[in-house]
Amino acid sequence: MKVNKKRLQGVFLSALFVVIMILIGILMYLKLDTLSSNFTKSQLKIQSDLVSRVVFEQFKNEIESLDFIRNTINPDGSNIEKIKQANGLDDDIIGLLRLDGSIVYGPSVDLKKYYEIKKSFRGDFSVSFCQNEGLLFSVPVFNGKNVKYVLYKFVPVEKMKGYFNLDLYDGNCKVAVLTKSMDLIYTDIEKFEEVISDKELSSSIKKMKKALGVSSNAAELSKLDGKYCFIFASEIPYTDFIVSGIIPYKMASDGIDGIAVLFMSVFVLMFLLFIGCLIFVISEERYVSDTKQLEEEKKAAEQANVAKSDFLANMSHEIRTPINSILGMNEMILRECEDSVIRSYAQDIYSAGHGLLALINDILDFSKIEAGKMDIVPAVYELASLLNDITNMIGGRARSKHLDFIVDVDTNLPSRLKGDSVRIQQILINLLNNAVKYTNEGFIRLIVKQSSWNKDNMILHIEVQDSGIGIKEENINKLFNSFTRFDLNRNRNIEGSGLGLAITQRLVNCMNGKISVQSKYGEGSTFTVEIPQQIVDFNPVGNFKERFEKFKLSQQKHKELFTAPNARILVVDDNAMNLHVAKSLLKQTLIQVSLCSSGMECIEILKKERFDIIFLDHM
Ligand code: ADP
Repeated sequence: MKVNKKRLQGVFLSALFVVIMILIGILMYLKLDTLSSNFTKSQLKIQSDLVSRVVFEQFKNEIESLDFIRNTINPDGSNIEKIKQANGLDDDIIGLLRLDGSIVYGPSVDLKKYYEIKKSFRGDFSVSFCQNEGLLFSVPVFNGKNVKYVLYKFVPVEKMKGYFNLDLYDGNCKVAVLTKSMDLIYTDIEKFEEVISDKELSSSIKKMKKALGVSSNAAELSKLDGKYCFIFASEIPYTDFIVSGIIPYKMASDGIDGIAVLFMSVFVLMFLLFIGCLIFVISEERYVSDTKQLEEEKKAAEQANVAKSDFLANMSHEIRTPINSILGMNEMILRECEDSVIRSYAQDIYSAGHGLLALINDILDFSKIEAGKMDIVPAVYELASLLNDITNMIGGRARSKHLDFIVDVDTNLPSRLKGDSVRIQQILINLLNNAVKYTNEGFIRLIVKQSSWNKDNMILHIEVQDSGIGIKEENINKLFNSFTRFDLNRNRNIEGSGLGLAITQRLVNCMNGKISVQSKYGEGSTFTVEIPQQIVDFNPVGNFKERFEKFKLSQQKHKELFTAPNARILVVDDNAMNLHVAKSLLKQTLIQVSLCSSGMECIEILKKERFDIIFLDHM
């Protein structure tokens, strides 16, 4: 198999390009992933700050309500109960402490557990948490500039549920409020302990804790139960608490992920488009190269065909030369031998030799036509003369088969035409020979007329009719195929190559003419040929029958057309036999015949002698 280097290079470059595109795609995907994850992280940090603010607002509300009580209680704190009732705070656990920790109002408080309360003793508000107990909010109550009491509100853990109303991401984000030492204040995360001890999550929590050391918020990409998620945390302002959350990856990065997916889809689409284009280009290239290959194969086949035709033409020519010699010598026997037995042998050689010559000529013509080398050579000719030769030739054959040969020539036909008379003669001989060959009794008829006039041009209309064996309808279409013969059993004794009609049709086509057949099996056939010819002389041919009779008479009176004892002819041929035949055939004309065997020899002779005619073998 032939390997096209250029094509291979093209395929390699395309493959390389595809690989590079895939790598770019992967890098882009990873980059987009990191970008989207970083973006989501920063968004989550902002979100967590907002959540911590919400929690802080809640704490602030508690402090403000304590602030309100502080501003309305008596100096001895005796009206707290009334204030609670008046403001609908009956269920709230509120208390008032002296600076030594003793109770003025409400339940006692273990100051060690809620150590942040110290801030209130110093004059500030505070929020403290004790695990398993609850949250404690406190504000100082002043007497002038000095702290006199500490007012507090206690929220027990059992009331925590519903206390932090943090519905984030439609409930998909779970949160926890924790002290910085990781004591859980509140969470809506189920099985909190289990979740935070998850291997991957706990390592992310560690990272987040570290980040919280230097920043007020943090977010990390992590995994929970094998699924990607984000965790985040943010300090609650003015407290020792943080709010933390966990959210599934898809929820957090929904928008940004959508953009990444869109971007990747466009990239993949463009990539597929490129692959499509590449396949199209490659298949087109293959189509072009296939077509090229087909063209090359066609060219090779045509060359082989030309070589075959050339071979046939050369072979035919080579065979024709010795046959001509045989026929020439045979002609001398027929002319000079008186022995009847030898003459009859010579007669057989004559018919077999001419049959062979006709076959060779057919093959030569056919190969010429197939190779496109059949040239039509138009020349002026006498129509009557052409018909004379044909009638003379076919008449003898028809007579020998006891067939009537009727020649019907339109008297008004122009006498001189321009066209290839040699080929028209060949067509007529082929058709008339067939008519004789395939007719056992009855007649054959040649009709010649003109079918249309066009100023200087006419259509020569020729019909060859016979009362012969006819052609079956199914065979009519195959009639002009080369090497086709029908009724082989019936025509066993009739010689033929199946080339005659094929050549005839092609010759007619070469002359821009038409050929058609009408036939009835068992009754006879009519072949019609129409060929355009140029009119040279409008004078009519007149009565052809009369002309032909006169011609026949003139032929019978003279055996030799002429003698020319003073004429000198030089015959040049490298074939000694041909030279001998030429000299013998010219013997009775008394012409002086000189012979030579090469072109050089011929030139040397011509330097010294003069001739009336020189016959040169052009091969
Ligand atoms: P062939 O050398 O066999 O005559 P042709 O090409 O001239 O080849 O004719 C092809 C075949 O057509 C013949 O073999 C014969 O069967 C048929 N054919 C041709 N002319 C006639 C005709 N006038 N009548 C009947 N059959 C014919």
